[in-house]
Amino acid sequence: MNQFQSCINQINKTCNLIEKNTKSSRLRETVYQEAEILKKPQRVVEVSIPVKMDNGDLKVFTGYRVQHSNARGPYKGGLRYHPQVNLDEVKTLSFWMTIKSAVVNIPYGGGKGGIEVNPKELSQGELERLTRGYVRKMAHNIGPNKDIPAPDVYTDAQVMAWFMDEYSRIVGENTPAAVTGKPVELAGSLGRETATAQGGFYVLENLLKRIGNKNQKKDIAVNGFGNAGANFAQIAYKGGYKIVAVSDSGGGVYNEKGLNIDELIRHKKETGSVTGFKGSRRISNEELLTMKVSILVPAALENVITKENSSSVKAETILELANGPISSQADEMLSKKGVVIIPDVLANAGGVIVSYFEWVQNLRHFYWDADKVQKRLQTQIEKAAEDLWQTKQEYGTDLRNGAYILAINRINKALKWRGV
Ligand code: NAD
Repeated sequence: MNQFQSCINQINKTCNLIEKNTKSSRLRETVYQEAEILKKPQRVVEVSIPVKMDNGDLKVFTGYRVQHSNARGPYKGGLRYHPQVNLDEVKTLSFWMTIKSAVVNIPYGGGKGGIEVNPKELSQGELERLTRGYVRKMAHNIGPNKDIPAPDVYTDAQVMAWFMDEYSRIVGENTPAAVTGKPVELAGSLGRETATAQGGFYVLENLLKRIGNKNQKKDIAVNGFGNAGANFAQIAYKGGYKIVAVSDSGGGVYNEKGLNIDELIRHKKETGSVTGFKGSRRISNEELLTMKVSILVPAALENVITKENSSSVKAETILELANGPISSQADEMLSKKGVVIIPDVLANAGGVIVSYFEWVQNLRHFYWDADKVQKRLQTQIEKAAEDLWQTKQEYGTDLRNGAYILAINRINKALKWRGV
């Protein structure tokens, strides 16, 4: 099954749940009709990007932008650089952005972009030419009121700065609101760098209280040690949690007494990987995912928990900081086992919330201090957690289905007003 098909299955599942809880037969019918719109992205753009490499060779890369829905506002979503990027993945990620923006109630739709490339094999100059080439091909499809990209896997503030610069040259005016996740010195927002992790932490604390006090031990394993994973580990570590294991693409490290995350971040900066950290035992990513911990935090790539390894997962709670880390079959198996899954569309929405704040600041040319950003993030994401909890209780379902019900109801209302 391709990934986007599992999105369609989730839409159908959500409609069934809404239908069961809706008394009016007219409304029951329109739920299915409107949801049909979400089963196809509104626009798919594929481009070729020729890049002159440092050695004089020419390489042609493939890039995508998928604009899934703008029912509630401009398309919004990250730009990923990874060798496994493909259209099915980008479509799926764009759908999840539509749902995420609706769950946290910000005035955006969903989009996503990607380039099939291994950025680790490119020099800074090649990376810059690749980014600028992508912007030149996409410029007519994006813009502050159309579609606003942001960082994702292996793209960062530097890539966003090149993006903003190239876009501004093309349109002939300084346009910071065309992209978010920019450096603070170049119209970025304070707090954006840590927003995904910080938001995930607020959601975790908020929902653990509602779920009940079963995570007494508060030990955590984190898969992926980049922007989302490393910042989350640091925030949770400072918040009194014990981080017993973390991993990155080079493997993982474990210490049952807990890892000193500040030192580990320093170690990763110096050596390029978490492995070899003093006082830790080396483990594989697979071991980390099936470790006996209270909270497991997948923060790397999609589908790391599948039907093959889900029966070995021993965590009580999973906080999905990555997008789509659990396959749909694994999700059902884990839910049956009683594992509480805090879904990606809420858990990692801190990033898009602060991206929204960055965009607002850019449009107003008026900048907030870090405290204001943090407080507004907390308010916005905790309100979303509360809305989700209420929806889940009302419909008698789990958190993932609750999130999709909440989002699809909101999107359908927007579609009704628009008269689609
Ligand atoms: P990143 O590039 O900063 O970090 C990715 C991390 O994953 C790196 O530590 C890398 O070594 C690790 N990794 C790669 N392959 C791995 C593997 N096979 N096993 C274990 N680790 C592996 O990316 P990020 O921005 O932290 O994104 C991580 C996830 O979070 C993605 O699913 C992304 O879509 C999601 N996300 C990120 C943001 C954000 O603001 N950065 C927002 C929402 C969702």
